[in-house]
Amino acid sequence: MADQQTDLNKVLKQHLEMESFFVRDFAVRSRGELFAEVPAETDSGQENLEMTPSLKTIAQTVSSCRKCEIGSIRTNAVPGQGNPKARLMFVGEAPGADEDQQGLAFVGRAGKLLTDIITAMGLTREEVFIGNVIKCRPPENRDPKQEEIDNCWPYLKRQLELIQPEVIVALGAHAAKTLLNTTDAIGKLRGRFHEYTFSDDLPPAKLMPTYHPAYLLRNYSYDNRKRVWEDMMKVLKELGLPVPKKKG
Ligand code: URA
Repeated sequence: MADQQTDLNKVLKQHLEMESFFVRDFAVRSRGELFAEVPAETDSGQENLEMTPSLKTIAQTVSSCRKCEIGSIRTNAVPGQGNPKARLMFVGEAPGADEDQQGLAFVGRAGKLLTDIITAMGLTREEVFIGNVIKCRPPENRDPKQEEIDNCWPYLKRQLELIQPEVIVALGAHAAKTLLNTTDAIGKLRGRFHEYTFSDDLPPAKLMPTYHPAYLLRNYSYDNRKRVWEDMMKVLKELGLPVPKKKG
């Protein structure tokens, strides 16, 4: 009981500090004018409806995919959601329990932190696209197996080709390693731009690996949060968007 209370207090403290670091400490303003063509969405549950037919087709294919065992034990597949013309795309690892329940990417605790980061950048979730390397929840939130990553890769590859974001943020080791086809550690990869090649005839996207929000929640230091924020400032600069100033 005492342990449970300690855990609760820890979670609450983290939440308040995180809010303060990523949201209140930065001047947040709307970027509506910079994303003029972006369809404004308010209900995240509606995000999938705004997809282009081809993104919809991918979502439908994913929903009936049974290539892996986890395809048969999921509640919902999580194809990813957001702006089909996003200039910025976030790619995480795999759905967790909340995502599996709702069929939407990043809607649990890590998702709340990702929303705070996006808000601190002066953006909204509806302006960007949010997806994952694999689209079904691995049981007990275990790491995705290589076979699962390989099976799911064509879906993410096609989503990237269709959206053609200018910048991709790879959240965590699995996304970074998959998108860059490397075994290098996330600590070595993060903090600088890499290139992601869609195909021979398209210009590559800039790819910024950074720490996964769930890692940040587990390794809750000021330095780690600062590192992620520095990575996001580089992303904003690359997109030609103003970098929110720290207040005071
Ligand atoms: N972690 C991920 O990598 N993706 C989600 O959608 C949620 C948590």
